[in-house]
Order: sequence, then C-alpha cells, then structure tokens
Amino acid sequence: MKTRHLLRTMALGSILCLGTAAAQAQEFTRQDTLRGSITPERAWWDLSFYHLDIAVNPQDSSISGSNTIRYKVLEPNQQRMQVDLQPPMRISRVTQQGKDVPVQQDGNAWFVQLREPQQAGTEGEIKVYYSGKPQVSENPPWSGGITWARDANGKPWVANSNQGDGASLWWPCKDHMYDEPDSMRISVRAPKGLMDVSNGQLKGVQEHADGSKTYHWYVANPINNYGVNLSIGDYAHYAETYKGEKGELALNFFPLRYNLDKAKKQWAQTHQMLEAFEHWFGPYPFYEDGFKLIEVPYLGMEHQSAVTYGNGYQNGYRGRDLSGTGWGLKFDFIIIHEAGHEWFANNITYKDVADMWIHESFTNYSESLFLDYHYGTQAANEYVIGLRNIIQNDIPIIGVYNVNQEGSGDMYPKGSNMLHNLRQIVNNDEKWRSILRGLNKDFYHQTVTTQQIESYLSQHIGRDLTPVFDQYLRDVRIPRLEYRVNGKTLQYRWANTVDTFNMPVKVTVNGEAQWLEPTTTWQELKLKKKKPKLEVDPNFYVTAQNVAAA
Ligand SMILES: [Zn+2]
Repeated sequence: MKTRHLLRTMALGSILCLGTAAAQAQEFTRQDTLRGSITPERAWWDLSFYHLDIAVNPQDSSISGSNTIRYKVLEPNQQRMQVDLQPPMRISRVTQQGKDVPVQQDGNAWFVQLREPQQAGTEGEIKVYYSGKPQVSENPPWSGGITWARDANGKPWVANSNQGDGASLWWPCKDHMYDEPDSMRISVRAPKGLMDVSNGQLKGVQEHADGSKTYHWYVANPINNYGVNLSIGDYAHYAETYKGEKGELALNFFPLRYNLDKAKKQWAQTHQMLEAFEHWFGPYPFYEDGFKLIEVPYLGMEHQSAVTYGNGYQNGYRGRDLSGTGWGLKFDFIIIHEAGHEWFANNITYKDVADMWIHESFTNYSESLFLDYHYGTQAANEYVIGLRNIIQNDIPIIGVYNVNQEGSGDMYPKGSNMLHNLRQIVNNDEKWRSILRGLNKDFYHQTVTTQQIESYLSQHIGRDLTPVFDQYLRDVRIPRLEYRVNGKTLQYRWANTVDTFNMPVKVTVNGEAQWLEPTTTWQELKLKKKKPKLEVDPNFYVTAQNVAAA
C-alpha cells in the first residue's frame, strides 16, 4: 500500500457531545524513514554502477541472482552501508573483494559492514547475492510487485511494476530516488523459448545447455531504480529508426508474437510522439540507449528507454477519453503519456516521491502538447480544460517528505492545469517552449527538488510564482476571482486562496481582452461604460463570482 491512513477518534467531553470527531492523520514508522530518507548509511556513498544478474523462474515465481554495486566514497571513515530488499526476498550473502562481509537485516533495510573504513574519493564494490519469491502485484501498475501472467497461448509472461513501492521489491539496491548509477548492466536468464527485454541496448545473448538464455542489456545513462525493466515473454521483434534532433534514434518494438501486425499499426504513433515531444521538450534524452515499446500484462509504465505497454492496441485510455472532449481518442494514451515520462521522470527525476508532480503534472501536460503539435492549440486547450472534471481537490499535490509518501492524484489533471495557467501567464508560446526545453537541458539527467523546478520557472518566466505554487501544489482551494461594479468602476480581488496569493488573469470586459493583476485586496479598474459583462479566460483554472448582489 502506498498510503497509510489512520483514523483517530476523539471523545469530546460532555455526554451530549459524545459523538466522535474522526480526523484523518498519517502515522509513519521507522521503516518509512529508512526507506524514504537519505540515511547516514546512504549519504556517504554515491552510486556509480549496478550489474543486476538474475535468473527468473516462472515455474515457482522466483528470482535469484546477484547485484554488484559500485560506488564512490564521499565521506571518510564510513564502514556501514544500507542496501534495500523487501521481504519475502532475502539476501543470502554479501561479498567485497571476494570475501564475505557481515550483513544485518532491519525490515526492508539491510546493513552491510564493509571490510574496512572507506577512504573518501576512492571507489568500492560489493556483490549482493539474493533470492526468493517477490511480492506479487495485486493491481499492477498501481500496486507494486511482479506479475506472473500467461499469454493467450499459455506461455509465461512476466513483468515488474514498482513505482512508489520500490525496485527493492525484486532486487537489492539503494532504493531512494536521489541517487542513480551512471550506467547499469542487466543480465536476465529466461526459460527456454522466452525472451527478456530490459533497458538500454541488447549487448549479447548467452545460451545454456538446458535451452534457457541470458539476455545481457546495457544502459549507458543514469537510470532511476523504479524504471529498471523486466519483461519476459514470447516476444516478436521489429526495429525502426527515427531521425531526430540528435541524429538517428534506434526504435525497437517487442509485442507478443501474435500481436505483431496490430503493433506495427498502432505503435507507429511513436514517430508522431517523438516529433511532438522533441519540438516541445528538446532531444529525446537517451539516444545511446534507444527507445523501446514492450507489451506487458498491465496498463503501462515509464520504464526508462523501455516503455511498457498494455493499452490493448487502441486509442484513448483503455479506449476512453479522460477529458470527455473527444481529443483523448486521437492518440494512444499509453504511448504518449508513458513516453512523455522520458523527459519528465527519467531525464528530470524527483529526489523525493513527495515531489512526484514533477513527473506527473508535466507528463499529463505533455498529452495536451502532443495535441497542440498535431491538432492545434484549440484542441490542446479543450483537452486540458476537459481534464478538470477528474480533479478531486482532496489533499495537496505535494506529499510528505522523507517517508516515501506521495501526494494527491490531482498531481495529474490539476498539476497540468496549473502548468496551463503558467502558459497563459507567459503569453508567448515560443518562450514557453524554450522554458520547457530549458528545463530538460539544464536539469539533464538530474534528480531534483520541487524548489529547483519552482525557482527555475519563476526565474525564466520573470515573476515570483511562489504564491501560485503554494496555492496549487500545497493547498486544495481553487482561487475565486471576486468582482463588483460601482457605476463605471470594476473592483476585483482573489478570494479562497493562501494569504499572499497573486496571479495575473486574462478577462474580457464587454468583449475586450484585458489583463488584471489581482491580489487578495480589492483593486479598481475604470471602465468605459456602465454594467460591464466580465468573463474570465477559461484557460485559467480559477472560478469567478460577481459579489455585488451577495
Ligand atoms: Zn505518469
């Protein structure tokens, strides 16, 4: 489970008032802190390389093998290292320079006692051996784990999905998003007749006497741990090339064998996707690793350079349009959304899952930018406005820091509507595009905090947007433009907001476009005639109310 809610009851004193006030509160455990914070046993070392080397056995739903972890020492004299692996998976031994070192389990965390105090600036390596039957996902991709499925021919079909719950569900790693290895090798031994598709480029296939094969994949770029992919199945394969901003990009496609024809038709959208997103966001961030689509038995996930797909070869979100405008049926939601994450999630990655809006708000907005590129700005506007019907305004978008706790699902449609507000404020699409491209260039292959992204946007838009971010990311109220008319004077202000809220808004007064700079105190505008008709530009996610009559 990602969220742990605890109902607390409070007795209220008198007998008559004995009803209980139930307040929702969240309690976090030591395990949440070990998982969600940069503990001292994590902070002193910087990941440089992983070699995950495993055998996957669909017969008994088990995984066994090792992960070699190479690291740079940042602080002197440290000897204790935290590695994460969630039960029922177990670490059997850890070696350093070929010799066993002690390891002590504390729930999901394992503390390795290295052979000697580490010297700052040096590089070290440990090898972690492990095995077990990893947690099975009850509802992939929303609940973490492995899916052990069978295709229509009865052949095993295995996939992982573990955002939030963590990659340590199935392999031992530093399971915190702030640190990524600079590169990674993934070797997966798959049973006879089946293939593994992981991230990056396929470097070799090793045949074993029993007919099983080990697929060796190499990722030449930093990779976030939840993006590491395991897909085993009876796959067909075809390849294409995309000529993009950084030259030739290798596209490799892995549908189930019997879906090859469907895939060749539906997955052609990959080209439209790359054209639109390179325009808006800049070059695809992982040319060296290529781009892949892989069919899986769940809806889909943004695994880096290995996007997984389970949308049934149809447009929309499982054939539906989430915006209710019709525009959502113009594209395959999973191809466009999950590939959008290559820029916002895989290129620019949150350090703490509390800041997950950096992934989901921008990627949700990428859907409308895809429409903008291929169908025009009116289509894009209608789509993002249409998505407001699924906003809950239940809890803030930003979650709780240092305990692996994400915020509201509103990070998708409300976050993209906040970005749409910013686009209106910029009021210059070429500038807006240069800011989106600038984010991907200046934070290239980095993990970031919300403060970094907020400051960047304020700086490049040229206005302190702190109140806007506080309002939409840290509060659940939607700003209300209150106005009243006195003769030829229009009075206006923001209400239902944080104290310091201010945000420009575009309105039409008697059909004439006009920018207002409301704050939370009343301001005035002299009008040409009495009884004006005022309308707020629908692209702003705000409400408006004439309070004169009230
Ligand atoms: Zn997403």
